Amino acid sequence: MRAVSLFRERFGGEPDGVWLAPGRANLMGEHTDYNEGFVLPFALGQGVTAAASRNPDRAGRRLTVCSRQEPGDTVEVDLDGLAPGRVTGWAAYPAGVAWALEAAGHRLPGACIAIDSDVPAGAGLSSSAALECATALALTSLAGLDVPRAELVTIARRAENEFAGVPTGIMDQSASLLCRAGHALLLDCRTLETSQVPFDPAAGGAGLLLINTRARHELADGEYGRRRAECEEAARRLGIRSLRDLTDLADTGSLTDPVLRRRVRHVFTDNQRVLEVVALLRASPGPSPGPSADTYREIGRLLTQAHASLRDDFEVSWPEADAAVEAAVGAGAYGARMIGGGFGGSVLALVPAAAAGPGSGPGSGPGSGPGSGPVRDAVTAAFARHGWTAPEFLDAVPSDSARQLSG
Ligand code: ADP
Ligand code: MG
Repeated sequence: MRAVSLFRERFGGEPDGVWLAPGRANLMGEHTDYNEGFVLPFALGQGVTAAASRNPDRAGRRLTVCSRQEPGDTVEVDLDGLAPGRVTGWAAYPAGVAWALEAAGHRLPGACIAIDSDVPAGAGLSSSAALECATALALTSLAGLDVPRAELVTIARRAENEFAGVPTGIMDQSASLLCRAGHALLLDCRTLETSQVPFDPAAGGAGLLLINTRARHELADGEYGRRRAECEEAARRLGIRSLRDLTDLADTGSLTDPVLRRRVRHVFTDNQRVLEVVALLRASPGPSPGPSADTYREIGRLLTQAHASLRDDFEVSWPEADAAVEAAVGAGAYGARMIGGGFGGSVLALVPAAAAGPGSGPGSGPGSGPGSGPVRDAVTAAFARHGWTAPEFLDAVPSDSARQLSG
């Protein structure tokens, strides 16, 4: 395990344990979280691994972290002096988790943590939450604490929002800590109620392909804030607490601003699409034989519809995502859409197993490489035509949440 070899290299000796927290993809429900609506993420097979041990021989309680993905950079922080703003860069995520755990009354020992990951960072697959959740499991286990998962979700989110200063919703940490293999997680962002929805495409002759467009457009952060403000303004003008409370699009007649009307239409229809996908999956005979090709075709149609809504109504898509969706659907995908906040990151495509090519099944990795299978070929060719950096393909298999691997 590469996290363990990094641990030996940097800290000497063996770690007390190894923990893994997955990245996530969101099947449906984008920009619905901060409108108190629904999201439907699933955990990926790809994740962040933390090899860690208590650090008892030093004076004071120090947290020392290093990452295979941040070479040369070992960061040491004093647990007693932690406060938002004191740690910058990638170490703000693990340090923020320690800070949020202590703020919640959980006393931690000093620790050394070596990180490795196969979730590409900044690709909209939530490497940041995976890093937080792997750290949270490692630190609480080393401290001998048994903190309920629901509380860890809140703690990891606080680390991201308040310590690292990234204003995100509750979805990413919930997915990393609460998902189950072969399921997606229906999360009600108002009540924080969750439920498991059977979702195992491989069992039904389908596959999920992630296309990292490798694009990151500068406007991402500013536009995200603007969309949030627009949604709040629309809710205010409609006289409702949040857009979640809209029960009929016909009730938006009083909203005259065409931009706000489009934003509202996206949030409303995307919430509905989440519930439609859940209904389709729950109506299927499971676990075996699982949903039929017709069910996947219907979910695919909803995915592509969601992409159009994000592109035209919410206006957060980007050229590489539009091209990837068009090429994937043209080559036989059931459907595809951009995932994440927008203006960069990844596209999720639901494909018949045959169209994904080798590498789309469970247990197979991206090692089978791009260029195999008509969907990958078509997307690769479209990117080449535009002169864009070749996309990266990852197989997405709904997987288990964060867990201890050894120790
Ligand atoms: P996403 O969560 O979609 O991958 P973010 O911008 O939210 O994108 O988080 C990416 C950031 O998380 C990186 O810039 C880095 O600071 C941190 N990060 C993610 N993975 C690692 C890793 N393996 N090692 C160190 N830092 C990481
Ligand atoms: Mg993130």
